Amino acid sequence: MSTRDAYPILSVKEARARILDYVAPLQAESVPILEALGRVLCENVLADAPIPPHDNSAMDGYAVRHADLLTEDAPRLPVIGHVPAGAVWEGALEAGQALRIMTGAPMPAGADTVVRFEDTETHGEWVTIRRVPKAGRNVRRAGEDVMPGTVVLAKGQALGAPEIGMLASVGQAHATVHRRPRVAVLATGDEILPLEAPPEPGKIRNINSYTNAAQILELGGEPLVLEVAPDRADSLVARLQSAVEQEADLIVTSGGVSVGDFDLVKEVLASEGNIDFWWVNMKPGKPMAFGLLKGIPLLALPGNPVAAMLSFMLFGRPAVLKMLGYRQWGLSKVRARLAETIERKDGRRHYLRVHLDHTERGLTARLTGDQGSGILTSMIIADGLAVIPEDREHLPADSLVDVILLRPDEFWSA
Ligand code: AMP
Ligand code: MG
Repeated sequence: MSTRDAYPILSVKEARARILDYVAPLQAESVPILEALGRVLCENVLADAPIPPHDNSAMDGYAVRHADLLTEDAPRLPVIGHVPAGAVWEGALEAGQALRIMTGAPMPAGADTVVRFEDTETHGEWVTIRRVPKAGRNVRRAGEDVMPGTVVLAKGQALGAPEIGMLASVGQAHATVHRRPRVAVLATGDEILPLEAPPEPGKIRNINSYTNAAQILELGGEPLVLEVAPDRADSLVARLQSAVEQEADLIVTSGGVSVGDFDLVKEVLASEGNIDFWWVNMKPGKPMAFGLLKGIPLLALPGNPVAAMLSFMLFGRPAVLKMLGYRQWGLSKVRARLAETIERKDGRRHYLRVHLDHTERGLTARLTGDQGSGILTSMIIADGLAVIPEDREHLPADSLVDVILLRPDEFWSA
């Protein structure tokens, strides 16, 4: 049996499950709340005090006792003072009095209702109430949002802007969240030039290090971009050793994982660590290996830029999200009708770059054109990736397929 045949080809689902078996949420750390954005809480957060902390006015107007407004048509009350937000009116409101009050200022003792300015007329030290509100109107009660002791954010909660606001409202300047994964990114290939280098015959620029690092940053991971490795086992070993020394939580390589003469990544992984699988039943992205190197999960992505990006999306992304403490990593998907017939006879799961159009018959998926795994522009013009299941050789036009959205925010805003 050749080395190649020693590794059975896995489905996308199996490959992802195997990778996820090797990764777990990382340790907790306490960070300033803005650094916790996009990360996941490791503990429950409780309210230490009611929110709002005191009964306060929801409007600019006059605080009154509602019972005083029921005696005559347009009650006229003496104004005993003025309380802006941030101040406290120490005295109590006696029967028949009004206090000028601004939004957010605490209600004075004795008052139960606020009449908004729009419903009043002010004459010097007096106010006439033109429209009598219902009892209790325009007052925000202490604790009406949150009572003390309530769990306002539960362990496992991902922190977006509203959650960061809630942390602030309970007085937490720091939050305890899972540490960010440090992901080493290694591009391989004798032909790969660093960006700073002048063009040379036979060489191409390094794309994958930047795509993969950008993908890691978008997820909230910390990329450690390593110097490009030429196709020599000793160089690969040296670069991987530096990832180990930098305490990477995950290593992502690209290129050198197929069956070419200089595809040495899996040999190095086999000799320095162990290979769990090699080959995934998909296109683009079939040559992909996964294993452990000195205890660190290593994802060896294919070299073609579109394949490297797609494979990271399907396999690296869930690993990074799991390490960050997320429990879900599904990509946003929609159902769309194929605009054309698709024939695929290789039994692989295909990811086709498509434009999505809203038509009278619903959403339609139209191929972007050249589906070559090196055609980077197709990833820029595509709205999504149509998923053609491995068991479908012939999909007539109009068939419904899943489409992974490449830019869900833009799509849903349409
Ligand atoms: P390989 O699997 O190493 O043969 O790579 C497949 C194709 O992807 C080759 O045409 C490589 O030149 C290209 N490739 C590999 N790594 C990169 C990279 N970091 N940036 C751009 N292209 C790459
Ligand atoms: Mg190569």
